[in-house]
Amino acid sequence: MFVYFDNSATTKPSEEVITAMNDALGVCWGNPSSLYGKGLEAEKLLKASRASVAKSLGCQPQELYFTSCGTESDNWAIKGVWEARKKQGRRMISTEIEHPAVLRCLEHLKKDGAEIVLLKPSADGKISARQVAEALTPDTVLVSIMHVNNETGAVMPLKEIRQALNAAGSKAVFHTDAVQSYGKLNCGVRELGVDLMSISGHKVHASKGVGALYVKSGLHLPVFMDGGGQEGGQRSGTENIAGIAGLGAAAENILKSRTETLERMTAVRDQLKRRILAEIPDIKINSPEDACPSVLNVSFLGCRAEVLLHMLDTEGICVSTGSACSSHVKGSHVLSAMGLKANEIEGALRFSFSGYNTLEEADYAADKLAQLAAAHRKLMKYHKG
Ligand code: PLP
Repeated sequence: MFVYFDNSATTKPSEEVITAMNDALGVCWGNPSSLYGKGLEAEKLLKASRASVAKSLGCQPQELYFTSCGTESDNWAIKGVWEARKKQGRRMISTEIEHPAVLRCLEHLKKDGAEIVLLKPSADGKISARQVAEALTPDTVLVSIMHVNNETGAVMPLKEIRQALNAAGSKAVFHTDAVQSYGKLNCGVRELGVDLMSISGHKVHASKGVGALYVKSGLHLPVFMDGGGQEGGQRSGTENIAGIAGLGAAAENILKSRTETLERMTAVRDQLKRRILAEIPDIKINSPEDACPSVLNVSFLGCRAEVLLHMLDTEGICVSTGSACSSHVKGSHVLSAMGLKANEIEGALRFSFSGYNTLEEADYAADKLAQLAAAHRKLMKYHKG
């Protein structure tokens, strides 16, 4: 059996996405800027895809800019706000548990004089609106808080954070990295009250090489890429029509069946969690009770997660030791910020789900995990305590 439980790293493209991308490559291959029919065909597809993605975020099409990935969207949002606002204030608030796409950007801006405040998560990996309120100063220009953490599934209270910003009369721009929540939770930008939102195609069954940034109308970011004037002149470069058409098709699926997808993920996550808790001793669940059901993070004490990962791979099961982008870096900055002990971090595996996973897969993975964790512990001469 092949079991793909690493959907936070990337997802399998859906049939609808593959069809849309094939059509875009095979038929709508014109340049959308060209004035003849072949170009207009591509422009029409671009417009329709933008409308679908915008609808799935509850924004206007003109508030949505296509990018190449979530990382680019995060870079544009954060560096853009800095360039636009650094004369008004130098403080930027974020969290210790952000993805490197955010953390490295903020680090970069420190060299230019930005004062970066990173909020520490609670033991279950969450940030509160109160923490944000307490860190706010009149010269805070950006608050960047992820929606769902990629390693634990912890959900951040974006609505409450918006209320806290309003209550403080803050003019800070509110950005969220919604790469892991899009397609699972409600990412309506108006309901959440965010000014900027980053999403990525390959986490929602579209392809790699496409992402988007929502920019609230009236918020002016500097041009991110100079050139031929595509994307409203903000992000030039001939559009990746196939990737964008794929993201459009993924957005249509999200609009149609996000709730059912979430229900299926929840059932699979719950089944795996129930069986791990019942059948494997000495484990610690690192995802909070109310985590987004797309992620389950578990420490298998006495195990080296990397070894367990390779043992599971030989049985056809794909999981991760942390975020794929940072899995070559020793330890997890997220689990470490939550205060986990070294042995808990060393034994931590991340299982991440999509709507395509089944209960049978959860059972197969639970069977194999119980066997392999016991075998690995025996080799490690692990005894409780
Ligand atoms: N933000 C989060 C929370 C992520 O999990 C990821 C990817 O894992 C990214 C940003 C980067 O997205 P991309 O791979 O599209 O650059």
